[in-house]
Amino acid sequence: MKGSSIISKRGISLRKLNIIMLIIAVVTSIALIYAMNRTNNLYRETHTITQELLQWRQDSFNLKLASDYLTEEIRCFAVTGNKVHLDNYFYEANENKRREKALESLKEFHGDSDAIRKLEMGMAESLNLMNIEYHSARLTIEGYGMDVNDFPEEIKNVTLSDKELSLPANDKKNEAVTLLFGPDYLKAKLRINEDMNDCLDKLEHDVYIMQNEMAEKLSHQVFTEHILTFLLIGIMMGIVFFTRILVFNPLRNCVELIRKEEEIPLSGAYEVRFLAKNYNLMYYTTKETENKLNYDANHDPMTGLFNRRGYDFFLNNVDMETSALLIIDLDHFKDVNDHYGHDVGDKVIKKAANILLASFRSQDYVCRLGGDEFAVIMIRSDPSMKDLVSRKVELILRKLNDTSGDESIPAISCSVGCAFGRVGLKAQELFKRADSALYESKENGRGIVSFYRNSNKNQ
Ligand code: GH3
Ligand code: MG
Repeated sequence: MKGSSIISKRGISLRKLNIIMLIIAVVTSIALIYAMNRTNNLYRETHTITQELLQWRQDSFNLKLASDYLTEEIRCFAVTGNKVHLDNYFYEANENKRREKALESLKEFHGDSDAIRKLEMGMAESLNLMNIEYHSARLTIEGYGMDVNDFPEEIKNVTLSDKELSLPANDKKNEAVTLLFGPDYLKAKLRINEDMNDCLDKLEHDVYIMQNEMAEKLSHQVFTEHILTFLLIGIMMGIVFFTRILVFNPLRNCVELIRKEEEIPLSGAYEVRFLAKNYNLMYYTTKETENKLNYDANHDPMTGLFNRRGYDFFLNNVDMETSALLIIDLDHFKDVNDHYGHDVGDKVIKKAANILLASFRSQDYVCRLGGDEFAVIMIRSDPSMKDLVSRKVELILRKLNDTSGDESIPAISCSVGCAFGRVGLKAQELFKRADSALYESKENGRGIVSFYRNSNKNQ
């Protein structure tokens, strides 16, 4: 709670946010690269298993094909006596050796498993079966009266019994065919085939399980990869979002406010707030200096009243048509300077300024035009207020005459000329009227207020 309130107060540090984002991005990227590498390896393993499965199918097909081919060729030889079949048989058994090659290949793939051992036993049994086939071939050779020396050693080595040797040629042929089509041969052949099929089915099942396991692992891996990819996308979106919220938007706001020369509210990241805070400090210092310069330019340093410049400004910007203008001049002020000195003269001016300031409303403008001359702009005033003005002047005169506060300041009076604005009357004309009224006051003995009068009796 404390940490979060500090963050919301000072703003998140871009440096810290950057480091956190960088760490998350690097960790996620490494995890993603690792996951991709693992997926790649799993894919290669799956590919190898699939290749091996194809090879295994080819091997099992070759195993059965070669076995059936041998049976077929030896039977054809027994039935036709055509030597080509026996040559084919021996070429397959001794040269081509597809069964042995397939078995080797299967052993390589499945290793020393029970199924392979059973397959090897089946092979051994089928080799035993070949002895019956050699026997049949020898009988066929004898039956057809062929020269046994033209045939391979396996045939030459077969020993026929005396009974078989004594049989007539046709019987020898028949005996040869019976050996290969008889129930014993068929049973042995069927048993070998069944065993082989059982083993091959088992091997196929093993391969199927391996493939399934691989597929499951691959699916998990791809899922992990998806999660990591989404995480990376999330981090990217987060970076864009935070950059926008913490940097881009506050900076854009800053630029707009700096253009408008306004104060910048503190928002966004710590660094942006820091810049805004310092800008605001500079802004206030500049503003203060500016205000001070403005104040000095418009105020009289001795009395604190508006100076001539300020007076001119009001004359041109205040609605003078609905205002009254009073010009006030101290009477015989030169004498004060002469008798009491310039410093006392200054005090008299300051006293007069304070009295004037206290005598009018806060919305009125009290100005020192220069020397011992003052002006008061009474806003929203009309000739019906003449009496009020007269009473105010009376009070001012009483206060100027009163020396009880500071006896070192001599009593003094002032003459006042007053003119009221009216629709269409220019400010400069109003001044002239007030000034002429002042002249009238001076002429008529001083210490009084005169209102401007002309042929218009309403004034
Ligand atoms: P009148 O009744 O006709 O106004 O006579 P006056 O003596 O007041 O004459 P006037 O208003 O023309 O003289 C103003 C004098 O005020 C002239 C000048 O020496 C003096 N004065 C002007 N500025 C200052 C100031 O800042 N301090 C002091 N002590 N005297 C000033
Ligand atoms: Mg004077």
